[in-house]
Amino acid sequence: MAKVIIGMIPPGGWHYYDSDVKLTSHSYESLLKSVENYRAENHLPTRDVEGDVNSYICSNWPNFCHGVDMVMVTSVHPETRQQSLLNDITTWARNLLNSKTPNKLISDELAEERAKTCKECPNNKPWKSGCSSCVSAAERICASIRNGRDTKSSTKLGGCELMRHDNRSAIFFDTSKLSQATSIPENCWMNIK
Ligand code: SF4
Repeated sequence: MAKVIIGMIPPGGWHYYDSDVKLTSHSYESLLKSVENYRAENHLPTRDVEGDVNSYICSNWPNFCHGVDMVMVTSVHPETRQQSLLNDITTWARNLLNSKTPNKLISDELAEERAKTCKECPNNKPWKSGCSSCVSAAERICASIRNGRDTKSSTKLGGCELMRHDNRSAIFFDTSKLSQATSIPENCWMNIK
């Protein structure tokens, strides 16, 4: 399980959202205590406080976590290409999830056509590696934005290295909802409006 790096402070300080309530604290340990107390005082199930906090922080800021043990660090390894794609896909999916306008999805037939194109495209790259809870969180958000839909070929898809989206989900969206790279390859389905 991914663990928060104690020597760093995540953007916005140590905080966690329990449902809609933002809990803040001056340190990681004290944040865990605050979440535990909040759940006890509100008669909520205690669940795995540490796992929930780690999952929240690591899915939002994977660079502030590592996958082994909780240690003090003095330096951070640069992101790999896959980690960077995972981060971009998480942000992309989260933005769509929080979009104020409804996400209209297209038909399975058209999505399958697009999936076949992505499958053959050199820009279709794997993105599920590294921080396992970050991957799970991204998978959950992606499944949510496409309403859990899939086609015959879509389950095999990765992420688009150019468009920085999850191909398995993007193939279901109207192109107007997707941001486009400055140069789209000729074969890409995003050229067809
Ligand atoms: S460039 Fe187009 S076809 Fe290629 S992986 Fe990205 S979205 Fe799919």
